[in-house]
Amino acid sequence: MATERTFSILKPDATARNLTGAVNAVIEAAGLRIVAQRRIRMSDAQAKKFYEIHAERPFYGELVGFMTSGPVVVQVLEGENAVARYREVMGATNPAQAAEGTIRKQFAQSVGENTVHGSDSPENAALEIAQFFDDKDIVG
Ligand code: ADP
Ligand code: MG
Repeated sequence: MATERTFSILKPDATARNLTGAVNAVIEAAGLRIVAQRRIRMSDAQAKKFYEIHAERPFYGELVGFMTSGPVVVQVLEGENAVARYREVMGATNPAQAAEGTIRKQFAQSVGENTVHGSDSPENAALEIAQFFDDKDIVG
């Protein structure tokens, strides 16, 4: 399996509780390299576009409201099998179902405020990375 990139977001519940470094430590310990990182305030339009796929879900409004409620840290992670590896490190969407040692098990507060986002496929990773980063700002 070749080196791959995935897109990550440290969500507002993470920045609010000063967990940026703690989450990054888990990411790095898992062998994923943070090759780009920026702290931003996501606009309503950016959040709506990013979660477009969930537009018909009952939690869409809540999700967009949450993602724009405070600063987030957008990141590009690089490593072997990075997409699947990061999903493993994040743990299940609902922290109650997340495995021991995962980011969501350790830090997430609820199924909505669940600390991190990670791409679900290499195709989506490329699209998500392109929404927030220029190629020149990713230093592998
Ligand atoms: P994941 O982030 O694990 O890929 P999904 O793509 O299914 O999960 O959902 C995107 C995000 O929407 C979740 O990370 C979470 O913040 C939010 N979400 C998902 N399901 C719910 C729910 N039942 N109630 C509230 N928020 C939810
Ligand atoms: Mg998802």
